[in-house]
Amino acid sequence: MIIVLKRESKGTSEEIRHRLMAGGFQFNVLEGVKYTVIPVVGDLTSSDINRFRSVPGVEKVLRISMPYYMVTKEYRQRTVIDLGDGVKIGDGFQFIAGPSSVESEESFDRIASFLSGLGVKLIRGGTYKMRSSPYSFEGLGDEGLQIMRTVANRYGLKTVSEIVDLRSLDHFLEQVDVIQVGARNMYNFPLLREIGRSGKPVLLKRAPAARMEDLLLSAEHIMLEGNENIILCERGSLSFDEVTRSAVNIAAVPVMKDLSHLPVLLDPSHGVGVARYIPAVSEAAPLLGADGLLIEVHFDPSNAISDGFQSLSFEEFSRLHGRIGKTLSCLSCSSC
Ligand code: PEP
Ligand code: MN
Repeated sequence: MIIVLKRESKGTSEEIRHRLMAGGFQFNVLEGVKYTVIPVVGDLTSSDINRFRSVPGVEKVLRISMPYYMVTKEYRQRTVIDLGDGVKIGDGFQFIAGPSSVESEESFDRIASFLSGLGVKLIRGGTYKMRSSPYSFEGLGDEGLQIMRTVANRYGLKTVSEIVDLRSLDHFLEQVDVIQVGARNMYNFPLLREIGRSGKPVLLKRAPAARMEDLLLSAEHIMLEGNENIILCERGSLSFDEVTRSAVNIAAVPVMKDLSHLPVLLDPSHGVGVARYIPAVSEAAPLLGADGLLIEVHFDPSNAISDGFQSLSFEEFSRLHGRIGKTLSCLSCSSC
C-alpha cells in the first residue's frame, strides 16, 4: 500500500507514523517537494486500508496487492473440477447446453437426447428462475429439479441449475451436479458461504454491473469455506446500447484466466441475448482460452417458455458445435 498525504497536512504524517507503528507495519516516509509519500509493507486487509483512507490529511491510499488470495494463481496454478464419470471442467472444452427453463419431462428429454447424441456431457435448465418481471414464468421448482435428474440419468448427463435462495439448497445438493449462482445472486454472500460449506461444484456468474474484482471476491467467499470447485462465468454487463441484451466483455475471459486458477466459461446466450449473433460470439470462446460455453438450446425457440429469442435451434447448435470442434482440433495440432 502507498499512502499519499495532502500538501498541507501538518500533523498527519505523525498520526500515520503512529498508527503504522502500532499495527507493526514496515514503512518509510518520503518527504517530496509537493507530497509526502509513505510506502507500507505488511499484511493489510481492505479494512486497514479504508481506515487509512479516512484519516484527515490523507490524499489517497493506493493498494498494490489484490484483496483476494485463494482464487489467484499464487494459491494454485490450475483447478480442474471432476464431476465423475470422466466429466471434468477445466480440462478440455465443455459445452453446458440446454433450455433456459425446464418446461416438462417430455421437452427436456427431447433436448437431452439431442445433446447427448452430439456428445455434450452437461445439460443446463432453470428450475427456480430469477425473473426481472414478477409476471414471468418462475420455473417448475422442485418438480423441475426432479425432471432434470431423471432425464439426465437416462442419458448419462451431468446437470447444472440455478439456485435462487438458501431454502432450496438441500434439494439442489441432492439433485444437481453443479449449482449455478446467477448474476443476480453474485452478491448474496450468505448463499455463497453456505454453498461453500457444502463443497458442491458451483458455477458463479458475474453480476451485470460487477467489476472483475467483485466477481473474484465472491468466489473467494466460497473458497474460504473450503469449496474450491468453482467455475467463473462471463455473461455480459449492463450497457447503454440496446442492440444486444448486455455487453459481453470477451476480454474478461483471458483476464479471468490470467488472474485466477479457476475454470472460466463464456455465456453468450444471456450476454448477447439475440440468437443470430450468438454463434459468432461463441466461436471465439476456444480462441479466448475459455474452458467452455454455457448456452441455451431449444427444439422450438419461438415457443420456449423463457428466453426463446436467445435460444439456438438444434440445427444452429449442431453447426456451432461442429465448427468449435474444428477450431479445437486446429488449436491442438502442431503442424502449422
Ligand atoms: C441463466 O443462466 O439461466 C440466467 C438466468 O442467467 P443470468 O443469471 O446470467 O441472467
Ligand atoms: Mn435464460
